[in-house]
Formats: sequence, structure tokens, C-alpha cells
Amino acid sequence: MAKTRQGKRTLDSYTIKGTNKSIKPGDCVLMRAPDSSNPPYVARVEGIEAGGRGGVKVRVRWYYRPEESIGGRRQFHGAKEVFLSDHYDVQSADTIEGKCFVHSFKNYTRLDAVGNDDFFCRFEYRSATGSFVPDRIAVFCKCEMPYNPDDLMIQCEGCYDWYHPTCIDMAVEDAKKIEHFFCQSCTTENGKETEKSHNGSKQSDMKVDPKRRRR
Ligand SMILES: [Zn+2]
Ligand SMILES: [Zn+2]
Repeated sequence: MAKTRQGKRTLDSYTIKGTNKSIKPGDCVLMRAPDSSNPPYVARVEGIEAGGRGGVKVRVRWYYRPEESIGGRRQFHGAKEVFLSDHYDVQSADTIEGKCFVHSFKNYTRLDAVGNDDFFCRFEYRSATGSFVPDRIAVFCKCEMPYNPDDLMIQCEGCYDWYHPTCIDMAVEDAKKIEHFFCQSCTTENGKETEKSHNGSKQSDMKVDPKRRRR
């Protein structure tokens, strides 16, 4: 039978078609979606293989965009947020459009500028169940939402919680300029009440709908 794995071999790198950029296992790539009106898929290259007929295949682990997850996009998801899924695949290397970078959440928030190729990942995603790891996340502000790096927040110097300007009736322009900020409870209570547990370590079970969830 002609099922010999003739000529199939592992490659250390692959040069993306039409470019001079090379990728290696561990790199992240953008892959053309079958429907070209959709944005490209984000994947992490796990392995590269030269097939028998000259085609190069890549083994990938998909990143999901929030809208591709079972729960859909939520208010706290960043525009460039992706989830590392447990969904693996083998694809033709021809579908690779370019290289991209999936940063940790912390590194992403420290980027001077976010390019088209920059993404961030703070959750792993189980595609079969739609569940996330971690399944709990710190929440901030009066609205008790996880941090969305696309939204400006300011930190109270009293309780160290972070607030959205709109949630505390402050104009975004003012929030950008303010040098010292104390939230309403820290101002009115003037430090006398210390039992309140708004010290920035609140946690929310992501399965509990936040108050402002829209459908
Ligand atoms: Zn808020
Ligand atoms: Zn405060």
C-alpha cells in the first residue's frame, strides 16, 4: 500500500509565502479564514512538517476570539483579546498570512503602541464546555467588572480600587488630567471606615452574570 510516510519530515522553520518572514514552532500566526470577510484566525504553531507532495503542513493550537467562544463577547473583553483553546488542528502552511504576537495581559498593558499584530491572552478556553481557566477574575469599580485594557480606569489613592470615569460621573478628559483621585467612599468616610473590603482583591465568578450584562 502506498501509505508509506515517504518524504515526510519535521521542519525547524517555514518561510511564509510571499514574505521573507520565517516562523518556528512556538510562534503565533494569522491564518486566512475560509470566509475572507472574517478576520484571520489566530494560532500558535506547534509543529511544522513537510508533506510527501511538497506541501508544508503546520500543527496549530487555535486561539479563539471572544465572539468565537460559547459565551460570546462580554463587556470586559478587550478588542485584541484571544483565548488559548484546547483545539488543535493541522493546516496547510499556505493559509498563513503573517506572524503575530500574543502577549501576556501584563505585557500587553505595557505596550507603548498596540499594532495590528498584537493580541493578548489571559484565559485558556475549553472549547467543548465553553469554560475558562482561570474561572475567577478580579473585578474593579462600582460596576464590579473585570479589567478591560481598552477602557480607561483611574485608581483611588485611598482604597486602591480602580474606577471607570463614567461610573463615577467623571468626564474621560478630566480623568486623564487628574493627579490625585479619591473615590466617593474614601472621600466621605474620610478613612474612618476600614472594614469595607474594597481593596482591589474582589473576585467574581465569571459564570455569575455581572449586573450590567446585556443580551
Ligand atoms: Zn465601572
Ligand atoms: Zn477609594
